[in-house]
Amino acid sequence: MNKGILVVISGFSGAGKGTVVKKLLEKSDDYCLSVSMTTRSPRPGEVDGKDYFFVTKEKFEQTIAENGLIEHAQFVGNYYGTPRAYVEQRLEEGKNVILEIEIQGAMNIKKLYPEAVLLFITPPTAEELEKRLKGRGTETDEVIAGRLSRASEESVGIGEYDYIVVNDDLDKCVQDVMDTINTAKRQPARVGGFIDELRKGLEKYHK
Ligand code: 5GP
Repeated sequence: MNKGILVVISGFSGAGKGTVVKKLLEKSDDYCLSVSMTTRSPRPGEVDGKDYFFVTKEKFEQTIAENGLIEHAQFVGNYYGTPRAYVEQRLEEGKNVILEIEIQGAMNIKKLYPEAVLLFITPPTAEELEKRLKGRGTETDEVIAGRLSRASEESVGIGEYDYIVVNDDLDKCVQDVMDTINTAKRQPARVGGFIDELRKGLEKYHK
């Protein structure tokens, strides 16, 4: 019953999804985070192999050709993708593997892994999103306006996700994410192997 599942976490820039994922990893050993490959340059403080695997366009394209990614997408002029080996190995070990990816990638994962759980994390209101982006104090008004405009575009696809989790209070949001995943893992479609075993065991009683 305890096989790991893929958990896709998406959300607007400024929704706090990075912090939610970090807390989730601290709280439970049942989860691990997939580190993506990207062609974008590292931001100050980002570490190769921890935040991303930073690679050239050639290396990225070679990895696609070798079937080394389970999904990839372009986002603002750069490639992003999920390395296959780590994800498959960890699922095999029974871990819930988190993919923190954007919507195109999320939709591809849903096609490839129908049992994956897709979560969208959002602030309670649009105004709150604006307030959080401004509160960071790290971006210009122009960049903030760009992110809000992108959020408006992304909001069109929210209906495709399995669950929406509102990030109002951080600890509550983390608990809600964990509860949602645990509930999703109990749906018959996600415990096919367990049901097969149970049915096999019951066969001997059949009259
Ligand atoms: P950033 O450049 O801000 O780190 O990421 C830009 C966007 O790409 C974010 O929405 C992030 O979730 C998404 N992203 C990161 N890794 C992947 C990946 O492996 N695949 C896809 N499809 N999107 C990703």
